[in-house]
Amino acid sequence: MKNIDFILNNLGEENFESVSPPIFQTSNFRFSDFKSFQNALADEEKALIYSRGNNPTLNVLAEKLAALEGGGKVLLFSSGMGAISTAILSAVKAGDHAICMEGAYSWTHTIFTQILPNYGVDAKMVEASHILDCISPKTRLVVVESPLTKTFELIDLKAISDAAHAVGAVVLIDNSYSTALLQQPFDFGIDMVVYSATKYIGGHSDVVGGVLICSNEKYSKIFKKEYLAFGSVMSPFNAWLFLRGLRTMPIRLKHIAETTHRVLDFLRNHPAVESLLYPGNSSKEQAALFEKQMKGISGLFSVQFHNKSAEAMEAFVNSLAFFQMAVSWGGHESLVLPYALWDEQKHSGMARFSIGLEEPETLIADLEKALTCFIA
Ligand SMILES: *Cc1c(COP(=O)(O)O)cnc(C)c1O
Repeated sequence: MKNIDFILNNLGEENFESVSPPIFQTSNFRFSDFKSFQNALADEEKALIYSRGNNPTLNVLAEKLAALEGGGKVLLFSSGMGAISTAILSAVKAGDHAICMEGAYSWTHTIFTQILPNYGVDAKMVEASHILDCISPKTRLVVVESPLTKTFELIDLKAISDAAHAVGAVVLIDNSYSTALLQQPFDFGIDMVVYSATKYIGGHSDVVGGVLICSNEKYSKIFKKEYLAFGSVMSPFNAWLFLRGLRTMPIRLKHIAETTHRVLDFLRNHPAVESLLYPGNSSKEQAALFEKQMKGISGLFSVQFHNKSAEAMEAFVNSLAFFQMAVSWGGHESLVLPYALWDEQKHSGMARFSIGLEEPETLIADLEKALTCFIA
């Protein structure tokens, strides 16, 4: 990785030395003569022709994200799911076998269980511990999320990459929890990296977007086919918001990790808490994978409480004053998500927390007060 401050601050020479980049809010780009238009069309991947393909504001963001990732080329999407669906559909066709790690993001799960089967793809959700056994010569794609964003289980990225490559399959990782700052999947042989930029890259809960990073060769293929054809491209204004978010991502994640450790330490010793779910915490094997693959934790974790009553959970979340109740995560505001919203039986007494930028004392005091709901 190049010097991080250089990556985040350098805007190149073409932008009038502005400290913040201009937003090229344009749909198309004009040509002064026939020949230059013809040359651009012959080089569609690089040329500025139409903003569903290339746009200078998006290109600034794409270059920074590739530099942070330590290589590859970046495609930018209107949502994380735009990136994930485009990457998946670029990698499989009818008759292929595809595997997705059980517990992956719910809409990725939907692609595997409700969409790919309609197009003749043998798509299977597989528990992390069985993925290696399920990779066969017909496998073309393995999708992993490590850590998962509910149970925070990690998977051995190098082992999965090696097994997939041995049969000619590619591996896609959803790296949203970690960002490039905490986990560099290319180091472990992963082929395609996707992000819900909505989370830590944006960081302010004000914009939805997605990122796909892959080799130059894959980029060329996907750009000319799925990217331009599906067209779920990021807008110039949203690219500008992500550039703005990116500048503070290192300092935000540092603060968030510090606060998260403080909050976890508080919860670990609290009598209402049965267990804490965060990367590396569940076993020796998981701790070893955490050491090998990640540089630290971010701000998302789950808590299993002893008290499994739905009423206690309802009282707990209702009495939190600073943890807001909402989907998504990775913003400036701390959030709580009780899983009983979806299934009161299966996930009783379990909630996910996203730590934001508040002072740790504020959050701990808020929890301390609300946790009495589980004990009374
Ligand atoms: C939010 C999320 C997504 C989807 O991203 P969008 O930007 O909402 O489309 C994908 N994966 C994970 C792990 C997420 O948390």
